[in-house]
Amino acid sequence: MRLQGKTALVTAAGQGIGRASALAMAAEGAQVWATDINVRLLADYDGARNIHAAPLDVLDKSAIQALIGRMPALDVLFNCAGFVHSGTALQATDEEWEFAFQLNVRSQFWTIQAALPRMLANKRGAGGGSIINMASVVSLKGLPNRFVYGASKAAVVGLTKSVAADFVSHGVRCNAICPGTVDTPSLQDRIKQFDDPIQARQNFIARQPMGRLAQAHEIAPLVTFLASDEAAFVTGQSYGIDGGMTI
Ligand code: NAD
Repeated sequence: MRLQGKTALVTAAGQGIGRASALAMAAEGAQVWATDINVRLLADYDGARNIHAAPLDVLDKSAIQALIGRMPALDVLFNCAGFVHSGTALQATDEEWEFAFQLNVRSQFWTIQAALPRMLANKRGAGGGSIINMASVVSLKGLPNRFVYGASKAAVVGLTKSVAADFVSHGVRCNAICPGTVDTPSLQDRIKQFDDPIQARQNFIARQPMGRLAQAHEIAPLVTFLASDEAAFVTGQSYGIDGGMTI
């Protein structure tokens, strides 16, 4: 089991990529704190092996500090929480900009700041810890109508490199993942909001050179790898996992 003996924290683990990754890491032997703002979604984890479900709003700094403070150990942090805004720079509002940077970027700053002292104190395995930050294909490639989202997810790449550079000699690795379009509940909700949802889904698929959307369980193995000691020589990288969008 690749993650035996490790303790992981996953944000936004109630559904989608966060949930698939929490379950994948638990299956690899990690003790996983699966957190989300939505307590109803966390109830679906009842009885799941190696999973400790806990409510957490990543916009609440003191709640982050309290949760990380009461975890028995911390080796892996997967910052998955994020939100997609649509529109161009002409349409974006200050509120959308602020919310995107709070949820998509500042939450990662807060969890990392709280997690680092625990990871730096670790002496197990190949290093003190592994941080995995959720970015997006829009961190690597411009896409239409993703102005606020693209700006905030590109910031995640800079944040990731900065943390990696500061702690590379202290056993803490930090990497980002950049998925293409993944068929998750929030994508399905966004598709439903179009006047023609069937055409909207076709348009999302048409962006993908493989001619299909990803499933969340196809993203989780990259998270598991980056969390593991097999990735001990990997830090500061931003991994496209996008069905060929950035070829
Ligand atoms: P999702 O959007 O379907 O679910 C998001 C989860 O985040 C929900 O369970 C929700 O309750 C939780 N959440 C919302 N606000 C929160 C908060 N303040 N604190 C804690 N949890 C909160 O999941 P998804 O589509 O898998 O997206 C997860 C991440 O992956 C996001 O950062 C998203 O930007 C990124 N991403 C998604 C895609 C995609 O196509 N789905 C592609 C690239 C990147």
